[in-house]
Amino acid sequence: MNTSTEDLTEFRAEVRQWCREHVPADWRRAQTLAGDAEFVAFQQSWFQELRSGGYAVPHWPAEWGGGMSAARQVVLYQELAAHDAPRLVLGFVSIHHAASTLLAAGTAEQRARHLPAILDGEIWVQGFSEPEAGSDLAGLRTTARREGDGFVVDGQKLWASGAAHADWCLLLARTDPAAPKRRGISYFLMDMRSPGLDVRPVRNAAGESHFCEIFLNGVVIPAENLVGPVNQGWQVAQATLSAERGMTMLELAERLGNAGFRWLVEACRGPAPGGGRLVDDPRVQDRLAELETEIAGLRALCLGLVERHEAGTAGPADASVVKLYYSELLQRTMDFAVEVTGLPAHTELRKPASSGWESGAWVLDFIGSWEWTIPGGTSEIQRTIIGERGLGLPREPVVPA
Ligand SMILES: Cc1cc2nc3c(=O)[nH]c(=O)nc-3n(C[C@H](O)[C@H](O)[C@H](O)COP(=O)(O)OP(=O)(O)OC[C@H]3O[C@@H](n4cnc5c(N)ncnc54)[C@H](O)[C@@H]3O)c2cc1C
Repeated sequence: MNTSTEDLTEFRAEVRQWCREHVPADWRRAQTLAGDAEFVAFQQSWFQELRSGGYAVPHWPAEWGGGMSAARQVVLYQELAAHDAPRLVLGFVSIHHAASTLLAAGTAEQRARHLPAILDGEIWVQGFSEPEAGSDLAGLRTTARREGDGFVVDGQKLWASGAAHADWCLLLARTDPAAPKRRGISYFLMDMRSPGLDVRPVRNAAGESHFCEIFLNGVVIPAENLVGPVNQGWQVAQATLSAERGMTMLELAERLGNAGFRWLVEACRGPAPGGGRLVDDPRVQDRLAELETEIAGLRALCLGLVERHEAGTAGPADASVVKLYYSELLQRTMDFAVEVTGLPAHTELRKPASSGWESGAWVLDFIGSWEWTIPGGTSEIQRTIIGERGLGLPREPVVPA
């Protein structure tokens, strides 16, 4: 990292102090079984709290309210995780995916309209996936047809996280059905209050409904909401997808090391069913040592990725290595937690909204950990990227549709 040690020490002390004063002490209890309205209100107020400290969008350019060096962001995420600050689950797509897309490919008007609005709490959803078009995203079938000053959209989106609370959507739609798959897609900013749009939540295995289906029936999008040229939305989408990696992974790795592993060790200090403490069992000690080593490895991988990203030397598969390793290590950690904590943990089925997987309700966290091997490219897709782009192995055979 290119910032001096002294500078970072001072900055760390500043963030630490801020966290002590501003992280809501009882947020997990207050958010347990919170309804939708309480969840949204809490997320919005925490975002504004972070904003007042200058910590809401550290990765944005300085002119838009960010400008923090990568080294400082590392410290920030370490301290937020260490103080068990709530995660910005509701604003995740807004501050990462939407902002990166607007900065990379948006017009000056689109940036001026939406970046300040995001800082004021505008919520975005990513409308990419469709039935039968997830890993094969280029196979999407939602259409946008030019009509006068706008485009008329028909189709369906699936697994859209947070769509029920969103103001705007990053939408991919097919504008040239005759063109090769990737060359006939355009990228739009869609107002979620548009007539013809219907959002239906989908309940997941943990009983939550954070992702949704979006049905689009003759929805009109003004032409000024097109991002990039018509039929070149695939290129724009790459800016959106790359925002899911990098610093966001660093934050998640820190959460795993703090909330996840630290709580697991505490649980293992508790009584074992046959007497004594779980942690007195050498098999438990071995497994904890293994997991701790793997978490240290994950942190090192993340820091390496950030450094290479800053230096412009990141390889084409580096982010995939981190995503794959994080999501599968998370599963292994939660799997062990469920195994070792036994029946009381299995019956705890209440978790705080705003917590993501790291709720301390181990069974729900175990179920939640499986989600991470799917979005942003499944583990199988990450392995293909690592094989082909990272290791230069032959490309996988393409099966004709
Ligand atoms: C928690 C969560 C949040 C999400 N949030 C959003 C969101 O906000 N917006 C959005 O647009 N989407 C979102 N998604 C959708 C996600 O991007 C897709 O689910 C993902 O891309 C996988 O697509 P699929 O579900 O169609 O599975 P499929 O692509 O049908 O894959 C099924 C299985 O086949 C394997 N497979 C497919 N193709 C290959 C291949 N070429 N080689 C090897 N194996 C292959 C996959 O790895 C997988 O195991 C979310 C998903 C989850 C789980």
